Amino acid sequence: MCVHFYSPIGTERRTERCKMPSIIRNAVDAIKGVTDRPLWAAKCWSWRCLAANKYPRTGHEPSVKLTGWRKRMAGKPILGDFHVAYVGLTGDWMWTADTLNLQQSYKAAPGGPLCHKCGATYFGGHMNFTNFAEGAPHWGVVRSNAAYMASGAAAVSPASGLPGFHIQSVEPELMHGGPLGFNLTAAGSVLKELGDEMAWAIAPDTGTWFERLGLQLTAASAAFKTWQAVKRRRCSQPRFTVRRLTLSLVNGMPTLKAKAYNSIVVCEWLADECKAAFERHPSNSYFRDRAAMMWGLSEFYRILRQSNRWMLEDDLASLKVARDTALCLFRKLSAMAADEGTQLYPCRPKMHVFDECHHIAQESGLNPAADWTFQDEDNMRIMILIAQSCHGSTLEPNSLEKWCVQFFNESDSEDSE
Ligand SMILES: [Zn+2]
Repeated sequence: MCVHFYSPIGTERRTERCKMPSIIRNAVDAIKGVTDRPLWAAKCWSWRCLAANKYPRTGHEPSVKLTGWRKRMAGKPILGDFHVAYVGLTGDWMWTADTLNLQQSYKAAPGGPLCHKCGATYFGGHMNFTNFAEGAPHWGVVRSNAAYMASGAAAVSPASGLPGFHIQSVEPELMHGGPLGFNLTAAGSVLKELGDEMAWAIAPDTGTWFERLGLQLTAASAAFKTWQAVKRRRCSQPRFTVRRLTLSLVNGMPTLKAKAYNSIVVCEWLADECKAAFERHPSNSYFRDRAAMMWGLSEFYRILRQSNRWMLEDDLASLKVARDTALCLFRKLSAMAADEGTQLYPCRPKMHVFDECHHIAQESGLNPAADWTFQDEDNMRIMILIAQSCHGSTLEPNSLEKWCVQFFNESDSEDSE
C-alpha cells in the first residue's frame, strides 16, 4: 500500500510533481487493524505540523527526543508563510470503506444504506439509489459528521483523526465509479445484446451459444479496430471474447473486462454501434432508448474532457442532460430485462458513485475528471517498481528515498530549463 497526498497548487501540471507518497508499506506485512494504526497516527501528526507550519519539537511519539538537523529546525516555519490544510480524501470505494470502516457502503445488504454522503439505499424503500428522477429524496439527506465521529466506526478508523477530517470530505472517485464501474456493466450488456442480434456477422445456425457469441465478438473486434483508425481514438483494448465478457452461462450477467481509459473508448464506439442499429430499425423504440443511453454515457466523458477544472454553466447543463439520459434509460432497460428474466443492464452500486460525482459537479462546479485517479494509479505502478528494487528489510525508507531522489531530480532539471 502506498498513500499519496497532493496539493492542487500548480494544477496546470497534474503530474507526479504535485504528489508525494506519504505511507509505503509492503502489502504482505499488513495485519488488519494493527499495522495501519501507528502509520496513520504518524501521518495525522505530520498533518498537524503542516497545519501549524512549525517543525515539531519531538518525534511523532513524544518520548522520542530530536537530534541533528531536526533538533536545529524545531519550532521554525516549514513553508514560509504557508499553512497546509487537509481538505479531502479520495480513493476507490473498497479502500475508503475499509479505511474509514464505513457503515454505509457497497457492502450494504438489499435495503441497507449505500452511501456515506447521502441517504441512498441499496434497493428497497423510497431512498433507492436507482431513483434517478429530479429531486430524488436521497439527495435531501446529508449524512452527519458528528454522528460518524461519535460512532464506533470512527473510533476504530485511524484516518478519522486527520486534522480537519469531515465525513462529507470523503469524495467518491469517478475513474472507479465510471470507467471501471458503470461503463463495464453498460458495455458488457450492449456487446452481448448486439452479438445476439448478429450485428457484426452472419452466424451459422449450428454451434453452442458460446461459439456463436464468440464469432460475433471476433467480428466486433475487427469493427472496433476499423472505427479506432477512422476516428483516431486508439486504445489498447484486447479483442472481445466471451470470457472477457465474464460470461460462463448464456443467461449470465455480462461485464466487460477493460482498463479505465479503454472502457471510455469502447463506450464511444458502442454509442456509434447502437446508433447504427437504431438507424437500421428506426421504428424500434428499444433500439432508440439503448442508443440514447450509450450516447449519454460517452457524451458525459466528452464534456468532462473538454472542460477545465472549473466547469462553465453551459457545460454543467449539458452534463446533466448526458447523465439523465444515461442513467434514466439504463434503468428503463434494466426493468425491461428483469421483466424478460434476463440479467442484462443490472443496476449496480457503482452507478451511485458515478451519480454522486455528477451531483458534486453540479453543486460545486468542480470537474470530477480533474481529480480522478488515472495519474495516481500510474504513480502507484511506478512506486511498486521502485519498491521491488529495494531490499525487503529496508523497503519503506529506501523506496521513499529513491522516490524523493527522482522527484527532486526532475524538479531541478525542470527549473534549469
Ligand atoms: Zn450518495
